[in-house]
Amino acid sequence: MSNRFDEKVILITGAGSGLGQASALQAAKEGAKLSLVDLNAASLEETKNKVLEVAPNAEVLLITANVADEKAVENYVNETVEKFGKIDGFFNNAGIEGKQDLTENFGIEEFQKVVNVNLNGVFYGLKYVLKVMKEQGFGSIVNTASVGGIRGVGNQSGYAASKHGVVGLTRNSGIEYGQYGININAIAPGAIMTPMVEGSLKQMDPDNWEEVGKQFVEPNPMKRFGKPEEVGYLVAFLLSDQSSFINATVIPIDGGQSYKY
Ligand code: NAD
Repeated sequence: MSNRFDEKVILITGAGSGLGQASALQAAKEGAKLSLVDLNAASLEETKNKVLEVAPNAEVLLITANVADEKAVENYVNETVEKFGKIDGFFNNAGIEGKQDLTENFGIEEFQKVVNVNLNGVFYGLKYVLKVMKEQGFGSIVNTASVGGIRGVGNQSGYAASKHGVVGLTRNSGIEYGQYGININAIAPGAIMTPMVEGSLKQMDPDNWEEVGKQFVEPNPMKRFGKPEEVGYLVAFLLSDQSSFINATVIPIDGGQSYKY
């Protein structure tokens, strides 16, 4: 395959781990210049090291920032444009799961924390990146929703509200900005084996989480967890020119689980 990201600038939040890191690696392999954002500076360094293993000449900007802080978001967008002059692709991905509990027991603070990161963070990212993309007249955005953004999962009020919100933001912005040469889509991953999912299984049973994991994927048509790199392939496609007429939609990547009774 040719280098779909030669001379392209890709901005990724939550790039220190899981889906963000896998997508950074895929984009770097295909020639991208990367602006990588995460709350955790050490994990960003780890991603950079992995990127340089697969793409030794890659230009990589690391920005430690909290996506729930509007000023920090404005800043990561400005820093990216100052360094690279444009943003071709934006993977608006950082998110947290929050503590699992029934709705009646779901703490208000916990609810607000999850919504602040997963929904407000995605909105701020759209707000500042879209300004840049509209001015340049091109760009692709992928927001990370979840299967929990298109159906009920249970015990996840904050997560469900925020991820359904991400789907709404995607559709709304997608229909607004298509006319400016910008396509905006969301992905809805099922259970992909990342540190977040490991943490989620440990919430269910800290001592026996691997066994819980096996039972968890039993109903999946493919009977396994997804791999971060499988999501990386989808994100790279959606951020590339090849997806230019796909807009305002939500693409599940879940082994078919969303469509099974
Ligand atoms: P992960 O925990 O492995 O990685 C998330 C990264 O985001 C971490 O590096 C973390 O430091 C960073 N982050 C968290 N809060 C942040 C903040 N406020 N500001 C900046 N960075 C922050 O998780 P993951 O599985 O890679 O999840 C990535 C996204 O995918 C999330 O939005 C998550 O909800 C979504 N998702 C994951 C799965 C899955 O099965 N792994 C399924 C559906 C959706």
